[in-house]
Amino acid sequence: MKHSAINIKMETFIKEASRNIPVIKEYDVAVLGGGPSGVSAAISAARTGAETALIERYGYPGGQATGGLVILIVGLTDGKNPIIKGLCREFTDDLFRMNAAEKLGNHVLFNPEHMKLLFDAKLAENNVSLYYHRYAAGVITENGEIQAVITEGKSGRQAIKAKIFIDATGDADLAQYCNIPYDIRSKSGLKPVTLGFRAGGINEKTAREFMANNKKFYDELIEQAGITVKTGGWVRTLNPHEAWFNLVHEDNTDCTDCGDLTRAEILTRRKIHKLMELFKKNIPGFENGYIADTAAQIGVRDSRRIRGLYRFEEKDLSACFKDTVCRAPNYRGKGNSSVEIPYRCLLVNEFKNIIFCGRSISVEHEFLDMFREIPCCMATGQAAGVAAGIGITRNCSLHDIDTAVLREKLLSLDVIISEPTSVHPGHELIYNDN
Ligand SMILES: Cc1cc2nc3c(=O)[nH]c(=O)nc-3n(C[C@H](O)[C@H](O)[C@H](O)COP(=O)(O)OP(=O)(O)OC[C@H]3O[C@@H](n4cnc5c(N)ncnc54)[C@H](O)[C@@H]3O)c2cc1C
Repeated sequence: MKHSAINIKMETFIKEASRNIPVIKEYDVAVLGGGPSGVSAAISAARTGAETALIERYGYPGGQATGGLVILIVGLTDGKNPIIKGLCREFTDDLFRMNAAEKLGNHVLFNPEHMKLLFDAKLAENNVSLYYHRYAAGVITENGEIQAVITEGKSGRQAIKAKIFIDATGDADLAQYCNIPYDIRSKSGLKPVTLGFRAGGINEKTAREFMANNKKFYDELIEQAGITVKTGGWVRTLNPHEAWFNLVHEDNTDCTDCGDLTRAEILTRRKIHKLMELFKKNIPGFENGYIADTAAQIGVRDSRRIRGLYRFEEKDLSACFKDTVCRAPNYRGKGNSSVEIPYRCLLVNEFKNIIFCGRSISVEHEFLDMFREIPCCMATGQAAGVAAGIGITRNCSLHDIDTAVLREKLLSLDVIISEPTSVHPGHELIYNDN
């Protein structure tokens, strides 16, 4: 069966009549996107006392970590010592307390449904006003400032005003709406998208043994399912006999193109069914396997990256910055090392009342993998939220914030800024003590 892509040629235009858009409310801080970075940003801003709103297109928080079924928190350490704590540690500790997380080497495996529950509760507890089922579809700018974000949803087109905006959409949607310069690779240069899924009825031990002894055959089965990008794999979940698959990819997909997204969703779904059919027939341990669920949203690794006040590049792998707000693992370094993320990677020249966090911050494409994992997204989210809060309480623009004050505040919140030298006494390799 061949998939026929619908090619939309936008050669004609239609004129939309101007209209008045109702303003729902004015906030101190509006966060766009409720993934790991957005939830962290909203909670952090709200904890400074700023009146904060979170706007999310789906009906749940967590982004890729929940709806995308990315259920493994990696990048917490430099391979040895913890490099990201703060709010990320608070969340993982909560998940362990809820019996919804387990250690897997240096990583944390968690239950995405509990993550949704936890985020809902934390956002409510911190008085974040929640606007689920609203898509940020545009902005109103005036006098060099962003005044409002336009949201679309079943309630129609409505505006939310704020003094400071935090873009946590993953794709820097607001950069596009505000004509803020950004970079995005051509389709062939983008990292592949992946439809995550969970399968039940699996005997992991039997399957792993077979795979280890029949590596070539296993790879051939993957190829037969039409999966040409060879990366990822599968790992058990917290549920018995269940596994999470990060294996079914599609390349040449630009997630800012709805046509590409449509094609990728259909093709990856088809490949998942084919793969399971092949595994059931050919891999002992998979005989009783079944697809439990596929992710609500296709997993995107790579799209727009803002051109910020500073761009992280090769020379910064061992750099120290005066305005470092958090760290990321150094996947380019030898041994155990991490890199510093300067505050300026979150800011742009064009507007002083917007800050970016998560995977769209200002970084050269080749280093994106170090910055896009869940802990780092939570850390840049926390930094953005705290910065926004300081901007509100001190009545200054995001560009004029005293970064010494920002760093001091982040340190008081258990954020790791300087290079970790040893495991803190009393803490294990990953920081949960359970
Ligand atoms: C297949 C795959 C496997 C991965 N594996 C791992 C792993 O094992 N471990 C790990 O730590 N990381 C992993 N990652 C990376 C990690 O999951 C993401 O990079 C991280 O979740 C990004 O967080 P974010 O908050 O920046 O964006 P997202 O998680 O993408 O969240 C963005 C949120 O914004 C919302 N949104 C977007 N646009 C709008 C809009 N216009 N209006 C309103 N809401 C909007 C979305 O619905 C979403 O909730 C993986 C990623 C993928 C795709």
